[in-house]
Formats: sequence, structure tokens, C-alpha cells
Amino acid sequence: MLVVMKAHATEEQVRGVCEKIERLGYRAHAMPGAQRTAIGITGNKGEVEQGTLEEMAGVQEVIKVSKPYKLVSRDLKEDNTVIRFAGTEATIGGTGLAIVAGPCAVESREQAFAVAERVHRAGAQFFRGGAYKPRTSPYSFQGLGEEGLRIMAEIRQQYGMKIITEAIDNESLDLVEEYADVIQIGARNMQNFSLLKRAGRAKKPVLLKRGMSATLEEFLMAAEYILSEGNYNVALCERGVRTFADHTRNTLDLSLIPAVQRLSHLPIFVDPSHGTGKRNKVTPLSRAAVAVGADGLMVEVHNKPDEAMSDGPQSLFPDQFDELMKQVRQIASVVGRTVPGIGLREKVGVSM
Ligand code: PEP
Ligand code: MN
Repeated sequence: MLVVMKAHATEEQVRGVCEKIERLGYRAHAMPGAQRTAIGITGNKGEVEQGTLEEMAGVQEVIKVSKPYKLVSRDLKEDNTVIRFAGTEATIGGTGLAIVAGPCAVESREQAFAVAERVHRAGAQFFRGGAYKPRTSPYSFQGLGEEGLRIMAEIRQQYGMKIITEAIDNESLDLVEEYADVIQIGARNMQNFSLLKRAGRAKKPVLLKRGMSATLEEFLMAAEYILSEGNYNVALCERGVRTFADHTRNTLDLSLIPAVQRLSHLPIFVDPSHGTGKRNKVTPLSRAAVAVGADGLMVEVHNKPDEAMSDGPQSLFPDQFDELMKQVRQIASVVGRTVPGIGLREKVGVSM
């Protein structure tokens, strides 16, 4: 159920409707838009008694939502969600593209800084690096844990880039929430519902990656879990799905981008690194991702890919990332997007 407020409804009227919904024992999710505010109702088992709400001051209409997802839907919020960060003009969503780059895993301070220096110089506004790695083998490198998070916090301090890193369970999510700017939930955890709920109670934005074989509806329902707990700053990420193809690690499904954008107001990234598994395919598919309308890219870059402790074959050399950025800027301008820099005030410790 969804309450659409009149275009000129006051804040007080919106608050009044939310309070009424809560008094009825449901949860109210007010979503302000450019034209009007809509209020999503969750927690109702059956139908909500429409009449009482419809008669309230400032209410335009009460609509039944037939889709299984509500809060992520454009029915509730027509305008695209734009996630903003203090001290930088870089956003996730909006006309500016969000560029996330960095190694698969933070392996050492030296390695992480070597990569950060290069991706920052090339124009990435967000630095990625796994501190908690979900690995297929229990014997593979599992990440540096909190030490990795501390290194990334130093990188933010040095370069002003915002930090995105994965949480793999509730315990690591507590720490990631403390250190990072964006909490990543990986493909393997897309349907870890208790983790999604915990992310929904976090105070930081969440980047949710598509599960290895998730349908569009399953993906949106996973995001719905996060929003239903009150965290509306969620971005999605297409990272390829498992198919029979063996020329590529996964099959990057770029058709998902317009499909998501039709149904949902949430921004969507493309990760061409995990999407292909091979570095020679990363730049061409980055161009395609921007052309198809992605709101951002997540790209793995390593200073010494041949020695990387994870995902070396798909990691770009820093020079290749420079070239990728050059090409992405060209495509961006064709589709009316820009690649904003990070705020100068944020470049703590960097001489200009
Ligand atoms: C990653 O981004 O480091 C990662 C593990 O990706 P995915 O969850 O998409 O496999
Ligand atoms: Mn990786």
C-alpha cells in the first residue's frame, strides 16, 4: 500500500500520515520526490483500511501496490535515488558517474597505497579493497580483517576517496560500518537475509551485488530487505551471472541495467572485472556499461596483478585503468553523463 501526498502537502501533514500508519501497527516509509512525497506502508499482512488514510489532510490518494517489492519501486518514488557524501561532489546516482576502483583485496599497506595513488590520479572517487574476502577455498587468502579497514581509512585521509568494502557477516558489518563509507554485500550473500536486515539498520549506504544466478525480481527483493529496515541509500551492482559460457568467468548481463531502471529508482553499477574474469575484456565492457546507462563502474586494479593474492587475471594494470578512464569519459559525454572529481577540500595531505 502506498499513500501519495498532494504536491503541496506540508511536512506536518506528511508526519501526521506517518504517525497514523505507525499507530495502526505498520511501518511508514516517507520518500520525498521532486513533485510530491509518497509514503510506503510495510508490515501489513493483509489490506490496510484505505478510508481512514484517504481522508487525512494532504493526502492525494491511496494506491495498492501489486508488485512484491514496494520501497525499491518507481511506483513509490519516481525520481532516481542519488546517494550523497559529505565533502565531495561525487555521488552515486545522478548525472555524475561513480567510479570505484582498487584491488580485489587489501594485501598490505604498501600494495593498497600503490594502487590508491594511481586510481586516484586517474579520477576514481571511490576506493575499493576487500578486508573480508568470501573465498571458494578455505585455504585461500581470507583478507586482513580490521587491519585492512584501517589501511583504507588512511587512504581516505590521504586521497579523499570514499571507501567501499565488503561485509560478509554481522560481525564484519559492525566494523565495516565503523570504518567505511559504503558497505558492500557480495554476490554470495545476496540472499543472506539476516545480513541484509542488519545492513538495513546500518547508518551507511549499501552496495548490493547481484547473486550469481539471481533473477531481476530476486535481486530487487534482496534490496527491498535493506530498505524495509529503514536504510534507503542502496545501490545495486551487476557483476555477471553463471552460464555455460567458458570464454568468460561470468556472463555480464548489461540488459539488466535498463530493466532495473524501468522498475526501480535505485542506482546501478556494473562490475566488469568479476563480470568477465579477464582483464582484456574489462575496458570494452566498461565502455558498454556506460553506454547502456550504468550509474557507475566497479573495477579491480592492482599494482602487480601477476602477484595478486586474489583475482589477478581480471585486475587491470594502473596504466590500463588510465586508458579505461579516458575512454569512459568519452562515452560518458555522449550519453550526457560526467565524471566528477572528488572535492578539493577532501584531498587532505595532497599538495596541489
Ligand atoms: C568483490 O567485489 O570483491 C567480490 C567478491 O565480488 P562478488 O561478490 O561480485 O563476487
Ligand atoms: Mn575480486
